[in-house]
Amino acid sequence: MSDFSGDELGSEDQFGIQRVDIDFGNLKCACKSSCTRNCECSKNDAGCSERCTCTSCANTLNNLTEFFGETGIPANPCFHRWIMEESKGRGSPVDLTSEDTQDLLFRTLLGFNPTTPINTQPKGDEFQEFMNTGHFEWAKEWAKQSLTAEERTALKQQLLRDGFGGDGSNHFYSFCRRNWQEDKNTTHCRTCGECMEWREWHCGACNKCSYGISFPCDGCGGVSDSYAMTQEYS
Ligand SMILES: [Zn+2]
Ligand SMILES: [Zn+2]
Ligand SMILES: [Zn+2]
Ligand SMILES: [Zn+2]
Ligand SMILES: [Zn+2]
Repeated sequence: MSDFSGDELGSEDQFGIQRVDIDFGNLKCACKSSCTRNCECSKNDAGCSERCTCTSCANTLNNLTEFFGETGIPANPCFHRWIMEESKGRGSPVDLTSEDTQDLLFRTLLGFNPTTPINTQPKGDEFQEFMNTGHFEWAKEWAKQSLTAEERTALKQQLLRDGFGGDGSNHFYSFCRRNWQEDKNTTHCRTCGECMEWREWHCGACNKCSYGISFPCDGCGGVSDSYAMTQEYS
């Protein structure tokens, strides 16, 4: 979930996958440094735009629009963390427009190893009808050998948005868990840098996630925003 509030409009794709469109109208920065730390855009998992007046921008999310094939979609915080960690490991920023990087990420979503023929139907749990009808339909479509190159690119970008986009579909790919997760069960905490169960909440005073929204923080005894509500019913 993003911290900034924008106008939110829901939409549904042809597979019935829900999507929330975020208005990036207000998001901008004026960084004097490289837009990697304490940058409003980067903190909200977004790339910089023409509204920004940053002077030496090296925001690693600047290519998100090309990657997703759509504007206005932030990175899921778990994906953003992967980009940062991977950039550190490689010693240079991850280029989301590189074919190799896209192939690696797309195969991760499909559950394919590097040698699986790319045009085959993914059979992992996430693409089973009982798990996710939208992705099941997507998988059948993807396996059609008659698809044109354009149709294939559009389908690929759709799955990239579902897996790696923030505030998008109900599911996302968790690098922490190495599989798809449901938004309602799992959230990647930006401060802790880890995927957490929804029952966990981030305690601002102790600066760590604490288990159980209905329990005080085991560190300082502070309570979550939902604490009062959970007490009324217990
Ligand atoms: Zn910035
Ligand atoms: Zn910016
Ligand atoms: Zn910037
Ligand atoms: Zn995560
Ligand atoms: Zn946390």
